[in-house]
Amino acid sequence: MAFSKRITGLTGGGSDGWDVYYRAKDMQEAGIDIAMLTIGEHDIGTDISILDAMYDAAKAGHVGYSMFSGNANLRQRVAERVTARTGVTTTPANVLIVPGGQAGLFATHHAACDEGDAALFIDPYYATYPGTIRGVGARPVAVPARAERNFQPDPDDIAARAEGAKSLLINSPNNPTGAVYSRETMAGIAQVCQDHDLWLISDEVYDTQLWEGEHISARTLPDMADRTLVIGSLSKSHAMTGSRIGWIIGSEEAIFHIGNLATHTTYGVAGFVQEAAYFALGQGDAFEAQIATPFRRRRDLVLNLVAGQNVVRAVPAQGAMYVMLDIRATGLSGEGFAMQLLDQHHVAVMPGESFGEAAAGHVRVALTVADDRLEDALGHLLNMAQGLARAA
Ligand code: PMP
Repeated sequence: MAFSKRITGLTGGGSDGWDVYYRAKDMQEAGIDIAMLTIGEHDIGTDISILDAMYDAAKAGHVGYSMFSGNANLRQRVAERVTARTGVTTTPANVLIVPGGQAGLFATHHAACDEGDAALFIDPYYATYPGTIRGVGARPVAVPARAERNFQPDPDDIAARAEGAKSLLINSPNNPTGAVYSRETMAGIAQVCQDHDLWLISDEVYDTQLWEGEHISARTLPDMADRTLVIGSLSKSHAMTGSRIGWIIGSEEAIFHIGNLATHTTYGVAGFVQEAAYFALGQGDAFEAQIATPFRRRRDLVLNLVAGQNVVRAVPAQGAMYVMLDIRATGLSGEGFAMQLLDQHHVAVMPGESFGEAAAGHVRVALTVADDRLEDALGHLLNMAQGLARAA
C-alpha cells in the first residue's frame, strides 16, 4: 500500500545527527554504563503527591471522557497562572488543554497554516519542529540564529525570509541553546510579525527554568495578543513528561477553532491527568523552583568547568536544562566529537547538527544526571577536546 507523502515525508530523511543517541541506547542495552546527557528528561520522577492526586482522581471517577477542551477547573487555574505571570488578562476561554506541548505545536501550526504555506522557525531548533510543520502540510523554513550572537535570533534575518510566510515559531528559554530572548529581540520579532502578517507561535515550555535575564511571554508584546499562540506544558516545570499535559493560550476565536481540532484528533486529555495537573499547579512557586534548582546548579557547574580551559567555549545558557558547547577548535564536527566521546569515554551528548545547521560544530549537554556524574563526564569531554586541539 502507498502511504501519504505527508507521512512518509514527515522526518525529511537523513540521520539528522541522532545516530549518537541510538548508539548510546544500544550500548546501554548491551549493559554498558553510559552517562546519558542527551534528552531533556529529569533525573527525578513525578512527585509522589502529584501521583497520589492522579490516583485519587481516577478512583473518584475521573476515568470517562473528559471535556475535549479541558476541565473547567484546570482551564481556570491555567488562566489565573498566565494572568499572574504575564499581566495579560486571560480567561478560561483563552485556554485549551492539550496532551503535552508537542500536541500544542501541531495544533497551533494546523490553525495557522494551509497546505504548502511557509512556516518559519529558528535554527538551532527543538528536534520535532520541522516534522511538526510538515505534518500539517506546511513548508518548514529555517531562520538561522548565529553562534556569534549566542544564538539570539536577529529580527532582520527573520524579516528576510518572512515574505509570503504564514507563521513564525519561537522558543525562549530555548532548547537546545539556553538562549533567553531579550526584550529587544522580542520587540523586533513582534514588528516582523506585524509587518508580514505572521502568526507568532511561542513555545514557552521552559518558562520556569530561567537563570539570567527575564522571560518575556510573547502575548505581553503590544498589539500581539490576537496573532500569538503560546504553548505551555507541565512536562518540564513539574517533571510530568510522561503525563502528557500542557496548554495553548490564544484569542477566544483561536481557542474555539483549535478546540474543534481537539475534538477530531485527541478527543481531550485523561480526566485523572487533568486533575493531577490542577493539583500540581496549585503547589506554587516554591515547588516549581525545587524542580528547576538542580538544573541551575548543574549549569553553573558546567560553565565553571569550561571556564578553566580554552579549547571548548560554552554558550552561556540563560535558561532551560542544557548547555551548548562550541567544540570547533577540536577540528571535529559535533557529530564526530560526540561519537568519539561515546566510544572512548561512554559519555553521550547530542551533536549540534541534530538541532540544525546553525549548531554545527557544537554539542548539547543535557543537565540531567547527578552533579558528580556530570562533573566526571565533563572532565572526559574537556580532556578529549584538549587532546584533539593539541593534535590539530
Ligand atoms: N518544546 C520544546 C522546546 C521541548 O524541548 C519539548 C520537549 N523536550 C517540547 C516542546 C515538548 O514537550 P511536551 O510535549 O513533553 O510538553
